[in-house]
Amino acid sequence: MRDRIYLDWNATAPPRSEAVAVYAKHAALAGNPSSVHAEGRAARGLLESARETVAGGLGVRADQIVFTSGGTEALALALKGTKLERTLVAATEHSAVLAAAPDAETIPVDTRGIVDTESLKAQLERGPALVAIMHANNETGVIHPIGEIGELVAAHGGRLLTDAVQTATKMPIPAADYVAVSAHKIGAFAGTGALIVRCAEDLNAVQHGGGQERGLRGGTENLLGIIAFAAAVEASDQDWLLHAQRRRERFETRLLAAGGEIFGRETHRLPTTSMVRMPGVSASTQLIHFDLAGFAVSSGAACSSGRVAASHVLQAMGVSTDEAGEAIRVSTGWSTTDADVDAFADAWIALSQARKAA
Ligand code: PLP
Repeated sequence: MRDRIYLDWNATAPPRSEAVAVYAKHAALAGNPSSVHAEGRAARGLLESARETVAGGLGVRADQIVFTSGGTEALALALKGTKLERTLVAATEHSAVLAAAPDAETIPVDTRGIVDTESLKAQLERGPALVAIMHANNETGVIHPIGEIGELVAAHGGRLLTDAVQTATKMPIPAADYVAVSAHKIGAFAGTGALIVRCAEDLNAVQHGGGQERGLRGGTENLLGIIAFAAAVEASDQDWLLHAQRRRERFETRLLAAGGEIFGRETHRLPTTSMVRMPGVSASTQLIHFDLAGFAVSSGAACSSGRVAASHVLQAMGVSTDEAGEAIRVSTGWSTTDADVDAFADAWIALSQARKAA
């Protein structure tokens, strides 16, 4: 049997060897970065050097980095810690945003999945707000024009929170007041992330404790996770993204010719993501079939219960529940090969033809 083919990078990426090596090297370390003894000072040194590396690699200032337990906590810090009274969230945000701001007003998206800036403008005219709009969507890869949106939000006295969990290290960190990133999407480990805070005066801590992270996030830092995070940022490069783009174009062209539908295809997307519908075949049937055939793909957002629910992202784009329930996500990363994606395209086309013939 050939090896399995992993095409679910948007859920999590395999750890980079550099992250594994640095984790192993320091795994037996004693020392709390808040302690004053030599071991504590050594741990503090490692923490601050990792902060410099993460900041340098992401192109932000070290004093803007607040380490958290991941993307979810980074988003919750901005959403629950904001001093602004109103919150607006795009309809296609990750559940980490939607669940952390249950009373937020929704900003609609168009059929491409892009935020409707006229609606946003009208909503902002009713008063300043914290606005949460992600950089690239985790299901479709659709990229929002964060620069333009940031100007609109600032002109109305608001603050912009951008979830860059899917774009960090692939694209420059966007110019937003708060930006969330996650280590396990870039080749380090789950349980570490950061909120880039460019506007600390409008933010309260949510998790209180020993005053760590400039008082914005109490709790002993996950030093090993943070060191691995820094190693992954340092090891990141963008050379492979051009190949990913070409590979995806060939993949999508083949699936379209075989009767597939690709969501968000008419706009700017991450080159690593395709959300593709196989008419007449439910996502759960496809996932089981492909899993047995050796491919790890997903139905969109990975969720803890493992259930397959129709995507709220596609529904916000005007796709019917039935059609959304036939879509799966194929996502790739730096070690994906052309052969991996070609093999999946062959399997997809074979299943689609078998279903049509049945
Ligand atoms: N935001 C997006 C767009 C994501 O894809 C994810 C992970 O699936 C998260 C937030 C949550 O990040 P974490 O798993 O680090 O909590």
